[in-house]
Amino acid sequence: MNFVSTRNAKLTNESVSPACAIKRGIAVNGGLYMPGHIPTLTKEDLEEMRKMTYPQCAAKIISMYLSDYTYEELLEDAENAYNAERFPDGAIGMREVSDGRFFLELWHGPTCAFKDMALQIMPRLLSRALKKTAEDREAVILVATSGDTGKAALEGYCDIPGINIEVFYPAGGVSRVQELQMVTQRGANVNVAAVNGNFDDAQGEVKRIFIDKAFVKEMNEKGYFLTSANSINFGRLVPQIVYYVFSYLRMLDEYDAEIGKEVDICVPTGNFGNILAAYMAKRMGLPFRRFICASNENNILTDFINTGVYDKHREFKLTISPSMDILVSSNLERLLYLIAGDDKVCEWMRDLRSAEGKYTVDAETLEAIKAEFSGYFCSEEDTKATIKRYFEDYGYLIDTHTAVAAYCADKYLAEKNDGVPVIIASTASPFKFAQGVYGALTGNTPEDAVKALDMLSELSGIEIPAPLQAAVNSEVRFSEKIDISDMRDSVRNFLNK
Ligand SMILES: *Cc1c(COP(=O)(O)O)cnc(C)c1O
Repeated sequence: MNFVSTRNAKLTNESVSPACAIKRGIAVNGGLYMPGHIPTLTKEDLEEMRKMTYPQCAAKIISMYLSDYTYEELLEDAENAYNAERFPDGAIGMREVSDGRFFLELWHGPTCAFKDMALQIMPRLLSRALKKTAEDREAVILVATSGDTGKAALEGYCDIPGINIEVFYPAGGVSRVQELQMVTQRGANVNVAAVNGNFDDAQGEVKRIFIDKAFVKEMNEKGYFLTSANSINFGRLVPQIVYYVFSYLRMLDEYDAEIGKEVDICVPTGNFGNILAAYMAKRMGLPFRRFICASNENNILTDFINTGVYDKHREFKLTISPSMDILVSSNLERLLYLIAGDDKVCEWMRDLRSAEGKYTVDAETLEAIKAEFSGYFCSEEDTKATIKRYFEDYGYLIDTHTAVAAYCADKYLAEKNDGVPVIIASTASPFKFAQGVYGALTGNTPEDAVKALDMLSELSGIEIPAPLQAAVNSEVRFSEKIDISDMRDSVRNFLNK
C-alpha cells in the first residue's frame, strides 16, 4: 500500500511507503497523507475479531494500512502500548448509560485523555519507520496542542532514542491541570513552551515551520529532520480506527447481536481526527449509519455541515472544553479528499489560506456529507447542564468534552429516535477538567485547579486518577513563554542544549 497527498496527488505524483508517510507526517506539498485505497474488513474478518484482544485487533487493522510492517511487529507494539501498566483498567471502557447510549471511554491511559489511544503506539511506529527507511538523522517532533495532545505526545515519546519532542501550547488556553501535566514532564528529550496566541496560531506556525525550506535545511545540516505527532500524521489516525471496530463488537456482545446491526456514532470534535477515524471504519465495512459531529461554541463544523461554507473568519471562543477550541479542523481535509478528490481539495485549501479565509464546497459534495454527517453544537450553559443531568439522572460523571457529545447525541435522538443505538466517544476523564465539572455540578467553580481535584473526588466519591495526582505533585520543569514568531528559536535553543 502506498500513501498519497490529499492535494494534487496526480500533479506532484508523490507516492510514498507507509513508513515514509509516518516519518514525514505531512506531505511535501503541504497536503495530508492518505492510503492509496481503504482496505476492507469482511464479515468473516469481523467474526474472527470478536474473539480477539484489543492489541490483536489493533495489529490486524493497522497491518492492513502499514503494509511494510509485519503483523508480528505491530502486535508487539500494540501489546507494549496497551499493557496493564499503562491501561490498568483495559484499553477502553464501554458503558451503556441509558437505553442505547453507549459511552466509549477512551481515557483509561496514562494521561487520562483519548489521545493516549494513538500516542502510546505511534512512537513505536515511528521508531520502526526510522529503521525501515534507513534514516540516520534524529527526529524532531513539533506539536501544537490545545491541551491533551501535548501531554499524551510527551508521555509517548519521552526517552525514545533518536527522537526529540517540543510541545507548544496556547498560554491561558489550556486547563491548569493540563498545563501542570505538561510542564512537569520528565525525560531528557522533551521541551515545552507556552506561546502567546491561540491553538490555531500555534498550529498554523508549526505547519509553516514544516514547509519552511531554510529552516528544514538548517535542521538537516545539524543532523535533524522535522516531523509531527499531531493528528495530521497518519500514524495518529490509524490506531483510532481500532477502537471503533472493537467497541462495535463489544456492543454486539451486549445485545447478543449479529454483525450488521447498525449504530450511529457521536464524537466531540475539534481537529476532526477522531470522527474521521470512525468514518474510515465505516469505509472499511463497519455498519455505521450516521456520524454526529458535536462541537462546542466554536461551531464552525456545525455551520459547515449545514451550509457547505467553511469560514474561519469568526470569533474564537475559549470554552470549558478547550481541546475542541479550534477553528481550522485539519483532518476535515481528509474527509473532503475521500468524498470529492484531490483536485477540489487543493482548490478549497487554497481558498482557505487566501485573505478571504473561506471555501464553499459544491452542491454534490455537500449532499454527500449531509448523507452521513449531522452537525450539532452545545453552548457553555448546555455543557454544564448536561454534566449535572448525567450525574443526577444516571450517576455518571462525564467531562466537559464528553458532555458536548452527550448533549448533541440527546438532541439528535430527540429528533430521530428509531431504536438505533449510539456510540458516544468519551474523550477525557472528568478529573482532567475538574474545575469545569465541579462548577457544573455545584454552580461554584473552584479557583484552584489542584484543590478542584480533591473537591470533585469528595463530591463524586470517585478516586482521583493516579496520573493526575502525580502531575500535581511533581516539580515544574518548563516555564518558557514565547511569541509565535520565536518558535523557531525555541527549537534551536532546545536542540543546542
Ligand atoms: C483532542 C480532543 C478532542 C477532539 O478530538 P479531534 O480528534 O481533534 O476532533 C475532544 N475531546 C478531548 C478531551 C480531546 O483531547
